[in-house]
Amino acid sequence: MANDSFNPFEMAQQQFDHVADVLELDESTRNLLREPLREYHFSIPVRMDDGTVQVFRGFRVQHNDARGPCKGGIRFHPQETADTVRALAMWMTWKCAVVDIPLGGGKGGVICDPHNLSLGEQERLCRGWVRQLARNVGPLADVPAPDVMTNAQHMLWMLDEYETIHGNKYPGFITGKPVGMGGSLGRTEATGFGVIYTVREALKELGIRPEDTSVSVQGFGNVSQYAIQLYEQLGGKVVAVSCWDQGDQTSYTYRKKDGVDLEELRGITDRFGGIDKTKAETCGYERLPGDAWIEQDVDILIPSALENQINAETVKKMSRRVKIVAEGANGPTTPEADRVLKERGIYVIPDFLANAGGVTCSYFEQVQCNMNYFWSKDEVLGKLDQKMTAAFIAVSDLARRKKLFMRDAAYVIAISRVASGCKDRGWV
Ligand code: NAD
Repeated sequence: MANDSFNPFEMAQQQFDHVADVLELDESTRNLLREPLREYHFSIPVRMDDGTVQVFRGFRVQHNDARGPCKGGIRFHPQETADTVRALAMWMTWKCAVVDIPLGGGKGGVICDPHNLSLGEQERLCRGWVRQLARNVGPLADVPAPDVMTNAQHMLWMLDEYETIHGNKYPGFITGKPVGMGGSLGRTEATGFGVIYTVREALKELGIRPEDTSVSVQGFGNVSQYAIQLYEQLGGKVVAVSCWDQGDQTSYTYRKKDGVDLEELRGITDRFGGIDKTKAETCGYERLPGDAWIEQDVDILIPSALENQINAETVKKMSRRVKIVAEGANGPTTPEADRVLKERGIYVIPDFLANAGGVTCSYFEQVQCNMNYFWSKDEVLGKLDQKMTAAFIAVSDLARRKKLFMRDAAYVIAISRVASGCKDRGWV
């Protein structure tokens, strides 16, 4: 792997090939799992507010459904590509398998920038996406969810279109719906809390008390804020957070050596997770360059913003004190940096395990919709903790027994489960 800027699907296939070798998978299973089972590419004509028709390109990739219906979000993004959607669909297969929920992997997208679309245009785009796919998705086939730049309102429009086409109620068709309209309590907290359930277990294993640790976090959005909330409840100290500054078009790190005040920071943060730099300085935060979050003298790093953030360059700046990297974001570590983390013996909690709280809670949403009976937030979060903890222990046990890197152990468990599903069904 010569460079750090990789086609995501090639990277996902290389990760798969590596574990397929470790597992000595037969040729037919490899051929089946390294490509999506199905993919749909389509055009969505949308009547714009000015009366013209604009045509958007849409995708849905169903990577594998041997263990259950495909599951995965829909992104609205101007730089969306088929290969990104393919990679994300494959990673969803492994994510659902590693936490042992009865779902496969899928992902969808539309090439568009919702910032440039009115609400009416967004609604027509959502309905158009469903019209193109209504026969190929559904509660028993493929269950979409929100992702980058899509939200609960988009999901509700999509559900409404699906139900209109099929002439009945299908609340389990899509997840991430608004609470009160089939959404689950606890979904907002689920990914961030899930990250910390795994950090808590890693600390137990290393014999370190949370109250003796400190953290630096990249990002101050949904994942990051709830990760900080639960980690502080465990007694840990967060010394730095970073975020993107829309006005300056750059990122900054905000540091308070005695520990950041979560509620104070939330009070000066916009809905995109951008902290107001003037107010932060007034509140006594040091404003440092964007990459400074990785240089902090802390025990734990939680990248929760973007992919490729721990790379060949930034990994050199990491403090020798860091013991755990918990990947809240998808794909935050490049393969080159990953090798460095391995050599340094850092305890990496890989993305598709650490951030699986979101999809696990989406699965709970589907279960509640199917029963038409909704749980309390405590019940949802209690079940989430059980699922995440069990998954973490299975991976860390395997890593210890077979002397594997955590990422490889997680892949071994996920890929073997999916490969067995395919074999048991007689596909390979
Ligand atoms: P978000 O949009 O709520 O927050 C993103 C944060 O990252 C914001 O604070 C933003 O300012 C910051 N950011 C953006 N660019 C940055 C940069 N260059 N440097 C520093 N900070 C930067 O997003 P989120 O939902 O918290 O998701 C974060 C990551 O977690 C993504 O990789 C996402 O795919 C992944 N993830 C999210 C969920 C979920 O349920 N939200 C589930 C699984 C994985």
